Amino acid sequence: MATQSSSKEEKVVQGISASQGIAYGQIFVYLQSEVQVPTYQVELDKRIDEIARFDKALLVTRQQISKIQDEVEKNLGKNEALIFDAHLLVLEDQALISETIREFETTGRNIESCFDLVSKKYIQAFSEIDDEYLRERAGDIQDVAQRVLQNLLGQAENSLSRLVERRIVVANDLSPSDSASIDRGSGLAIVTDSGSKTSHAVIVARSMQVPAVVGLRDLSKRVNTGDWALVDGYDGLVILNPSESTLFKYGKIQSKKKSFQGRLMEANRQKAVTLDGVDVALMANIEKVEEVAQVKEFFAQGVGLFRTEYLFLNSARIPSEQEQFLAYKAVVEGSAPETVIIRTLDLGGDKPMASQPDLFPDEDNPFMGYRAIRFCLDNPAIFKDQLRAILMASHHGKARIMYPMISGSEEMVRANQVLEECKAELRARKQPFDETVEVGAMIEIPSAAATVDLLARDSAFFSIGTNDLIQYTLAIDRGNDRIAHLYEPSHPAVLRSIKRIVDDAHAAKLTVGVCGEMGGDPVYAPLLLGLGVDSLSMSPPSIPAVKFLVRAMKMSDARALAAEVLAMASPKDVYAKCAQFHRSRVTME
Ligand code: PEP
Ligand code: MG
Repeated sequence: MATQSSSKEEKVVQGISASQGIAYGQIFVYLQSEVQVPTYQVELDKRIDEIARFDKALLVTRQQISKIQDEVEKNLGKNEALIFDAHLLVLEDQALISETIREFETTGRNIESCFDLVSKKYIQAFSEIDDEYLRERAGDIQDVAQRVLQNLLGQAENSLSRLVERRIVVANDLSPSDSASIDRGSGLAIVTDSGSKTSHAVIVARSMQVPAVVGLRDLSKRVNTGDWALVDGYDGLVILNPSESTLFKYGKIQSKKKSFQGRLMEANRQKAVTLDGVDVALMANIEKVEEVAQVKEFFAQGVGLFRTEYLFLNSARIPSEQEQFLAYKAVVEGSAPETVIIRTLDLGGDKPMASQPDLFPDEDNPFMGYRAIRFCLDNPAIFKDQLRAILMASHHGKARIMYPMISGSEEMVRANQVLEECKAELRARKQPFDETVEVGAMIEIPSAAATVDLLARDSAFFSIGTNDLIQYTLAIDRGNDRIAHLYEPSHPAVLRSIKRIVDDAHAAKLTVGVCGEMGGDPVYAPLLLGLGVDSLSMSPPSIPAVKFLVRAMKMSDARALAAEVLAMASPKDVYAKCAQFHRSRVTME
């Protein structure tokens, strides 16, 4: 393995700790921005060479795609590799190629600018066609065009999904689909200029158990692919060119953390029961079907949140009812005999579906825009395919349905009406499903938090999405690193809101869980339990630390902690109190 040269100076950069762990390795700078295409005139005597350059770029692109196709076929199978046939066909598309050459011959502008212009025209035209198959071609052309342009411009291909060596991924920002496309095992750590503890890329990093540090401002511009760095996900540090003594120090920290982690994993086999005998339900948040294996690995009591939009994010088209059914069934069966709470699509906002720009146009305020249940109620065909797929999966184990971003009773009623239509359609098809399937709402918008008693009329359970509830209660964009220090779960307004939700839910005899990141933080878990929350759902690797604490505390103490901090005015004081509660019960020694 290559090692760093010792000549460069060590530099410590402070960011926000987002996913725990320590990693040391080489950096891969991920540039997301679209290829910048220059425009210039080509001299007359160079025009033949320019066309030859184009031919060569097409050929190299063809070789690259065929190579990827072979790899995919070897690793995933023939069917998965078939999609690349469509990409290869784009390269043979005579209309696209001859129009580019015609454009070049008439204008004399460099070939990449002509190709860019013509391919964009085609992408636009295909994306407007009222035929699903043809619309998908727009995505194919876009992918291939990017690659051809990169080859023309001599830029190395820059794809996260084909990271072959283990690298520290450094980016300005990572979209949920970017982070989801990093193969498990290929990303050593995730480091971004922007972002916060609850941005989706970070949630994915946590579930992949890789360290992440965010909010590093302009780091991605200051480092190069191949530079060496150490990422400290505990304290939110990135150490560039770490010295021998730093590496030695971190080696010791890591071995201590590892042995503590071993203790946690050992204790994790036990039940989550407090010292005064109260059972606590700790469940798993998952984003991908294959993560269902972690439910058993980390002894989760089922899935408290299945973020189904991840099935859609990287897909070139909307997955069909049957495809979704197979995915949901796999998760339900993989979690049996425990329950899986399947959340309906939370697309839009910071999670637009890249392949469907017409469904998710750019918005000024995406977090407060066309997303989640709003999008679903506005696109009943998509919503119904999903609801029928979930209902069909409910026949194969225990499933519950949960709607995201509910803002009031009317949405709940409308969503349930659509669900009833789906049930009637399945009955007509003689398709079995669990007739008693329960339906709940996420409480993550202040208007829902204030109307839990009304929502209770049409809900069987609630789950508090603290990630969004905090951002909307405090008016702090959860992904904005500049104001990340103001994103305080311990703010009195947040605590009062959670208390009110819990009290109102219990008054209506309904259970209420927490599935936001706050629930998986051992510093806050006792407070939430003390406030009366019935279950906590978190990324599976977070379970051992929370369970360890649950087993080391009394529920009566957690209730006292909640009562005490509810009277406090300062979020910092609340945090300090919760941290002290945690420290006095769990030590690494
Ligand atoms: C939340 O908002 O707390 C939540 C769990 O949903 P997401 O993070 O997917 O928005
Ligand atoms: Mg949310």
